[in-house]
Amino acid sequence: MLYKVINYFKKTPKNNTTMTTWKDIIHTILNGNPTPDKRVEKTNKEWMEILTPEQYRITRNKGTEAPHSGEMCSSHELGKYACVCCNLPLFDSSIKFESGTGWPSFTAPIKDNAIHYIKDDTFGMVRVEVTCNSCDAHLGHVFPDGPKPSGLRYCINSESIKIDKA
Ligand SMILES: [Zn+2]
Repeated sequence: MLYKVINYFKKTPKNNTTMTTWKDIIHTILNGNPTPDKRVEKTNKEWMEILTPEQYRITRNKGTEAPHSGEMCSSHELGKYACVCCNLPLFDSSIKFESGTGWPSFTAPIKDNAIHYIKDDTFGMVRVEVTCNSCDAHLGHVFPDGPKPSGLRYCINSESIKIDKA
């Protein structure tokens, strides 16, 4: 068991991304999230000063934008998508895909410890919420119905991310 856990954290990144699976995510929810490289903590007032009202509503109050409303959805610019609150790199444009849902969709995070996973049983469903592991910004949800090889679909609000062009 210990061997397995050590291997989990030793996985080597390929193509600017890691190979997290649904099994890894369930394991993380049950056993605890990995430690982020850094923590960013601000008061609500401080977040309000640096975010637009819509960014604040979604990232700090677990809001959701209307599908097809976000500018990142149809964007295919190359680069890294970072947390709009704290600039932590979250997803690489190379693993962005067209899911047809109306929200930007990715198959994997940039690093295992970039994303924080939380069981979300609101609205009569059991889902997995994803937040920024550095500042706790609400990003969206992850579902086990994505394309191969990871089989994951990270469904992310445009308002929660910004692109650092390559
Ligand atoms: Zn953040």
